[in-house]
Amino acid sequence: MKILKFGGTSVGSAQRMREVAELIHASHLQRRIVVLSAMSGTTNALVEIGQLLYAGDATTATARIEALRQRYHEVARELLPDAAVAGQAIQNLDQHFDTLLGLTAAPLSADGERVILAQGELLSTLLVHRYVTQVLGRPAVLLPALDFMRLDVDEEPDAPAIRELLAATLAPHAAQELFITQGYICRSAQGSVDNLKRGGSDYSASLIGAAVGAEEIQIWTDIDGLHNNDPRVVQGTYPIRELSFDEAAELAYFGAKILHPSSILPAAKHGIPVRLLNTMQPEAPGTIISSQTGAEAIKAVAAKDGITAINVKSSRMLLAHGFLRSLFEIFERYRTSIDMITTSEVAVSLTIDDATRLPQILEELRRFGSVVVDENQSIICLVGNLEQDAHGSANRAFAALKDIPVRMISYGGSPNNISILVSTHDKTRALQALNAGLFQR
Ligand code: ADP
Ligand code: ASP
Ligand code: MG
Repeated sequence: MKILKFGGTSVGSAQRMREVAELIHASHLQRRIVVLSAMSGTTNALVEIGQLLYAGDATTATARIEALRQRYHEVARELLPDAAVAGQAIQNLDQHFDTLLGLTAAPLSADGERVILAQGELLSTLLVHRYVTQVLGRPAVLLPALDFMRLDVDEEPDAPAIRELLAATLAPHAAQELFITQGYICRSAQGSVDNLKRGGSDYSASLIGAAVGAEEIQIWTDIDGLHNNDPRVVQGTYPIRELSFDEAAELAYFGAKILHPSSILPAAKHGIPVRLLNTMQPEAPGTIISSQTGAEAIKAVAAKDGITAINVKSSRMLLAHGFLRSLFEIFERYRTSIDMITTSEVAVSLTIDDATRLPQILEELRRFGSVVVDENQSIICLVGNLEQDAHGSANRAFAALKDIPVRMISYGGSPNNISILVSTHDKTRALQALNAGLFQR
């Protein structure tokens, strides 16, 4: 089995949907599960509709829903030339718009919001499935992701449940070769509609690949692979052909938007190669992520915003054992994970990306000593094979950053990562300086 995931831009119009249908029929593929995102712009529109309803503005929300409905009707008519086929599809699309309209009648709940967010992937898969089966006349089974994608009580994907439920969902279709399903959406442990957070379709693909023991997971997107730096803010970036699971996982976690932060983990756990490919340029080699790694020292740089740095200074730390443990226990109690940490004899600096419980955490930390908080920080993550950094690339990285105020540095914790904390204000400048200092070729 192969998994092929197509992102929002890849299914962003009727024309793109037709191209995706071609790609999923390429002859060398055997049994495959195609995971689709919502059409680009749809999830953002649904987020906005939720916000309008939270703000009590049902009138504007209704207008947005109707505008979205018109867009989908147009796509359906363009994709499905037979009027009867298009009419049937439009009726089915309308059921989703009626669900949305139904949620405008009463104050929005968190459960209602998640139902809103789930409609995008349901709409895109409906359209592509109709095109493949009714226009191309090829057999394909639409698998409802809500039947098998499950979270556990900690709101993490429940891998054993997904494996079991997906096997049961596939069982009646032993002779079928092509399956289409929704990325991003799932059910909570309690059975209500939920999702894998923004960009979560990559994570769906990896979880599904792990659940079926796939031979390969392909992530098809709008760029020719994972680039050495953020192409949105740095010019002259280039695709990296090979990455190890660890390297790719760090880049995804530390901000390379091409991959959802957790999406490499299920594939890595099962040793399933992940190939990043370009829908707009299918013949480009892309990036292969596997247990192999190339020899270069620093391969890529990524940045993650929204980081809060906390510094705790305490004379009690001096020569005291058990200090760090009691500090970590506070973060554990508030289920807040720490990304970077640096220590001196009398102080500890650490970073978190989820500041929801920050007030409670700070209250407890203040018992240890003085606490300083810096918000709006970014972690710049340099990833590569640093085990034997014979090229002196760490030095070159620091030299490149000579004009940029650095708040924290974490080096040596992992053989493939150096993390540097800067103010978000300096992030773009730092990424550009690192590009000039490390990757000019
Ligand atoms: P999809 O909708 O297919 O999931 P995304 O927009 O989530 O696509 O991810 C692809 C985008 O990620 C690219 O268009 C690019 O702008 C951005 N991106 C950020 N960092 C990187 C990187 N290091 N390599 C490649 N793309 C990156
Ligand atoms: N549609 C969702 C989003 O825009 C999931 C995804 O595209 O991966 O976040
Ligand atoms: Mg994405």
